[in-house]
Amino acid sequence: MFRRPLFRSDPWTDPSLRKMAGVMLALVMLTGTGCSEGEFSKKSNDAERGTRVVLITLDTMRRDTLEGRASGESAMPLTQAWARRGLTLDRHYAASSTTDPTHASLMTGLSPWQHGVSRNGLVLDGKYTTLAEIYSQNDYRTGAVVSSFPVHRTFGFEQGFEKFDDVFEIVVTQEWSGKVVPKGAFYTLGDSITSKALSMIDELAGPRQFFWFHYFDLHEPYGDAAKDKETIRLNDVYSRIEAGDVGVRDFVSLTRERYEDDARVLDKQLDRLFTRLAADADRVDTHILVVSDHGESFGEDNSLGHGKRLGDELIHVPCFLISPSVSPGRSSVPVGSVDVPVTLLALSGLDGIEGLGRDVTQPLDPERTVFGMRRTFEKPFRELRLDGEHHLIDKLEYFYADAGGVTTGNEESVVRRPPSTSFDGEAARALFGVFTRELSGKAVNTAVDDETRAALEALGYVQ
Ligand SMILES: [Zn+2]
Repeated sequence: MFRRPLFRSDPWTDPSLRKMAGVMLALVMLTGTGCSEGEFSKKSNDAERGTRVVLITLDTMRRDTLEGRASGESAMPLTQAWARRGLTLDRHYAASSTTDPTHASLMTGLSPWQHGVSRNGLVLDGKYTTLAEIYSQNDYRTGAVVSSFPVHRTFGFEQGFEKFDDVFEIVVTQEWSGKVVPKGAFYTLGDSITSKALSMIDELAGPRQFFWFHYFDLHEPYGDAAKDKETIRLNDVYSRIEAGDVGVRDFVSLTRERYEDDARVLDKQLDRLFTRLAADADRVDTHILVVSDHGESFGEDNSLGHGKRLGDELIHVPCFLISPSVSPGRSSVPVGSVDVPVTLLALSGLDGIEGLGRDVTQPLDPERTVFGMRRTFEKPFRELRLDGEHHLIDKLEYFYADAGGVTTGNEESVVRRPPSTSFDGEAARALFGVFTRELSGKAVNTAVDDETRAALEALGYVQ
């Protein structure tokens, strides 16, 4: 079969040599910094040692909240210090820019057009195998503490969990995405989540444990976790835009400061959890993966919030892994939400997740590609932007991230960021068309012509 290259070859580098060099580079990156191992390392070879696997999802967390803005320090220095004990995935991409699709990918290893949760409010079907189900089938105690209604059991996220705490404290709304919110309680802040997590760790005692802990502090309203100032909602910003307030950009800056105030509070709650996990690590092999489901826009492309775009501040999110099996260091190979369940299972000596995800602790091809999408909300709507213009959101949008950057679009039009002279937009449109067909239930193997299939293979989408 003729394989049409998606990107023209570098004229002065033999592709096979370049690939080999890339694998060697990945090995070097995974070798780490040579730092000594932290509290999560093995202290003995005791055969009685337990295994504890912890997935922590930080809702709405921007990468620069952890890493620090260009002009400043991290808003989460304690968490950053813990991250440095492990492997930081510098190019982790969320499967979507909103909560439910990404969390469904974190649980199943499938992309949103495959598991079908392509927007908030859809239910993850029981036919898909989840991370928790595999742990449960392998004699792990499984527990989750989640902090907001979008990941409530109503949406299928309890699958495989022996105990699933989705009782929330803060009353906001009686209805969300067409579903009834029990007693109107929509979310819980991090101090309670950490307390409940610590209790659950004791309650589900046993030699093997898997936990998912989810934190919502960074999501609007901004300043609610910090509590010391008046909170700000996105609607407060939109009201000022509609009123023609010339100072609205300064107000957005203030909004972002409130968001970072919440991050400082969350930082302490995460530190409380990490400290407990580290204290147990002399008797339990402890593998922790921390990841965000999407970021948040504070004026990028004149947009606010999340879910409406696929900007870098929304999909390029923090991710790090602390494990006695992984040397501290950083990796710049593109990875994504679908890699998370595969990696955690591999660290536990297990498998069983389908899809394209890979164990990120193993050498990865630096030229690999990761994929994601954004769907419209329940119906097309007009987003009000900071410049006062309305932006119609009525189409699916996809992205893929590779060594050369990020490409976004759909089967009609695509754009590569940063601009690349070796970009083959036609192949990207074909790829995104396949995603749409998959989302509508058509099998990819029969729905594409040979040329498109070759393009998909070149991108690593089919094998
Ligand atoms: Zn979210």
